Amino acid sequence: MTTTTSDTRVYLVGGGIASLAAAVFLIRDAGLHGENIRILEELPVVGGALDGTGDPGRGFVARGGRMLEEEAYVCLWDLLETIPTLTDPDKTVKDEVWEFSRKWSSHAGARLIDRDHKILDAADLGLDLRDKAELVRLLALPEHVIGARRIDEFFSDHFFATNFWAMWRTTFAFQNWHSAIELKRYMLRFAQELPRIHTPAGVRRTRLHQYDSIVRPIQQWLADRGVVTEHGTTVTDADFTGDAVSGRRITALRVVRDGRPGTYELGEHDYAFLTLGSMTADAAYGADDRAPELIRDKRDGAFRLWEAIARKAPDFGRPNTFCGRTPRRHPLRALQHRRGAGHHPGQPQHRCHMGRRRPPGVPGADLVGARGDGRVLRRLRRAAGALGPPGRTSRTGAHGGGLMTGNMTAAPVGGLVATPLSAACADVLAQAEHACIGVGPFNSYFSVGRIRQIAQWAYERFAQVDFFVPDGPSAYTLQALGYPPERAEWKARRQGQ
Ligand SMILES: Cc1cc2nc3c(=O)[nH]c(=O)nc-3n(C[C@H](O)[C@H](O)[C@H](O)COP(=O)(O)OP(=O)(O)OC[C@H]3O[C@@H](n4cnc5c(N)ncnc54)[C@H](O)[C@@H]3O)c2cc1C
Repeated sequence: MTTTTSDTRVYLVGGGIASLAAAVFLIRDAGLHGENIRILEELPVVGGALDGTGDPGRGFVARGGRMLEEEAYVCLWDLLETIPTLTDPDKTVKDEVWEFSRKWSSHAGARLIDRDHKILDAADLGLDLRDKAELVRLLALPEHVIGARRIDEFFSDHFFATNFWAMWRTTFAFQNWHSAIELKRYMLRFAQELPRIHTPAGVRRTRLHQYDSIVRPIQQWLADRGVVTEHGTTVTDADFTGDAVSGRRITALRVVRDGRPGTYELGEHDYAFLTLGSMTADAAYGADDRAPELIRDKRDGAFRLWEAIARKAPDFGRPNTFCGRTPRRHPLRALQHRRGAGHHPGQPQHRCHMGRRRPPGVPGADLVGARGDGRVLRRLRRAAGALGPPGRTSRTGAHGGGLMTGNMTAAPVGGLVATPLSAACADVLAQAEHACIGVGPFNSYFSVGRIRQIAQWAYERFAQVDFFVPDGPSAYTLQALGYPPERAEWKARRQGQ
């Protein structure tokens, strides 16, 4: 920040920890006036993914807890060193967390339990020489060589059965099909956790949940210095001058406030920091008797803003990589719903869809047949059944079509390669919004196994998957082959029975 003036205004889009921290550093380290900083947040609460909500009557929900540890969270501790707790102005949030963690350190006595409920010796990581060599190879490879490859492309089966992998993946929420680069980055960042991952003694805990212990004190510190947080404001677009080479500058932020459009014009010495995308965009809550709504249409602003600016210049990246490519991007979490002061076993579990895509195992992928109960549709059902628990079946009477909702598993799929025929096809494939798969009646290619393979491939990558079974129209094909019309219709119908 070399060109700030006393009038410099700063707009922070989003009220997550990124913006809150930026506001603190702008005041503390860059000397900006708090009154000149404005946080634009679409939700009625700040904190973003570090959320916490509820009251003693309805219960409290927090979507997750960051596993804070000493060595990797250098910026966070630097930030929290500045912020006093809400209860004791002489104590910083950092001191409170460290004090609390010293008193209540993590020491799991049963980090891994096997199928027979036996506690395993988790201190034994179980890595053999080959596993270690594969790990070292991944760590040594430069990112441009690793590219878009997945974790399971770098390790053999033994690695995935080790105690190490069971603990690492559950500590850091990895799936075998996640990005290998991401794993490498995490391993480099959290290597110091290895000797204590089985307890996990390195994790620092906050006294209250992280919204109350971290977000609220920062919010108070900022409010005391005049920072304005504007809730109910969604930033929908940004205007730029310049280009990637000469440098870009934001000249205006387009917003929607309480349903009405508005604009913030930025002067030459003003700045805007945008949070693009969010892990918790379009999160929805469910309960024991109610599934969380699956939100497909990007109601939150996080990804829509990114998409809007990405349309203007390719170097703004590809939001679709994070919000559109695969149903697997949509995690489902079961959360403890705490009521009153304490938590008791048996209280309602809250389920929460986060991110933008359907989680594995959640109903909603549609298999559409031209007829309700045909052979092909039965094959589709068997294939869908093999992908997960049985789905619901309903009929769309007006068209005589059947709609079957299948479930899916997270098992890796091999053997299928999609080859786009043109650049336009490649584009559509990359967007991965909707796959329509035609299943030909009378075509032995479409065995249950094959349909399952295609379905798994499609469910892994696309937000929505539909199967079309044109059994009715195949009567005409049969007629063209010489069948009398009535016989052709009967045969086509039979294929659909
Ligand atoms: C369950 C869970 C567990 C996690 N565990 C860990 C962990 O152990 N360790 C770790 O380091 N990290 C962890 N994380 C990740 C960490 O919480 C996030 O990376 C971090 O909180 C992101 O902060 P952020 O400010 O960048 O974005 P967010 O917290 O996503 O905040 C973005 C905010 O901006 C608002 N917003 C977005 N777009 C717009 C717009 N166009 N207009 C107006 N407002 C907008 C959103 O409403 C939101 O409030 C976890 C996350 C979750 C969900």
